[in-house]
Amino acid sequence: ARPGNTKLSVEHRIDTLLREATSALAAIPEGTPRLEAELLLSEATGWSRTRLFAWPDHPVASDAHARFHALLARRLAGEPIAYIRGRQAFWSLELHVTPATLIPRPETELLVETALETLLAEAPLRIADLGTGSGAIAAALATERPVWHLLATDRSPAALEVARENLVRLGLRNATLLRAHWSEAFAPASLDAVVSNPPYVAADDPHLARGDLRYEPREALTPGGDGLDAYRAIATDARRCLRQGGWLILEHGYDQGRDVRRILIDTGLKAPTTRSDLAGHDRVTLA
Ligand code: GLN
Repeated sequence: ARPGNTKLSVEHRIDTLLREATSALAAIPEGTPRLEAELLLSEATGWSRTRLFAWPDHPVASDAHARFHALLARRLAGEPIAYIRGRQAFWSLELHVTPATLIPRPETELLVETALETLLAEAPLRIADLGTGSGAIAAALATERPVWHLLATDRSPAALEVARENLVRLGLRNATLLRAHWSEAFAPASLDAVVSNPPYVAADDPHLARGDLRYEPREALTPGGDGLDAYRAIATDARRCLRQGGWLILEHGYDQGRDVRRILIDTGLKAPTTRSDLAGHDRVTLA
């Protein structure tokens, strides 16, 4: 301990701060308290999580300590950790996110996996990502398959700004952004695949008033009504702009598999099948 600094080194040690923050964060439903404490302390100090592990007894300077408390207070008030940090891990990427876009979810990685398994890896496919938000799906696919060309649409200019920053920062030149509602911008039979994680929460779902969802853009979460309108619109659009033999791959809610398959069949798309996520829930349907 440094002379005259005993209080700081006792009270503001990394391990003490993490322990206190973890127990405070445990009050947040569906949170991940220890991880969030580490992410916020890492943000406040500029130190990596590895460095936090390696130096449990290291003192944290008072300015970083003040920043940590300010970030912690925001999280304890309910603000999503991704918006506080301005970043969210998705697939192998670290994406920039703001309240202009949905926060990319781990479930959506099943949509990325399904596209990678289903579509020809070596062919120069034209693939649309409708409602790209932060650009998560388009960025993951463009990273994994340099020969594919991703056409990512969104009708929100603010979301497109976030997606643009992600594509530029990741150096992805095989992805193009378009301001458009679903696939209205594409010519008939011009696409090899359409992928989308559209808004699918029903308008009266109580989850909209809970947790992170309170802070996310309403139009990214719910299309209104029964939550299926985006699928109706996308299915009709996709049937028009997909080539013969092209694929439509959609994420949906755990209880929407049957409804989504029915919508796809009624639109004239063939042989829809549904895949389950890691929690065993219906999550992705392809046709
Ligand atoms: N496609 C984006 C994502 O998966 C945004 C989805 C949305 O806003 N509904 O994260």
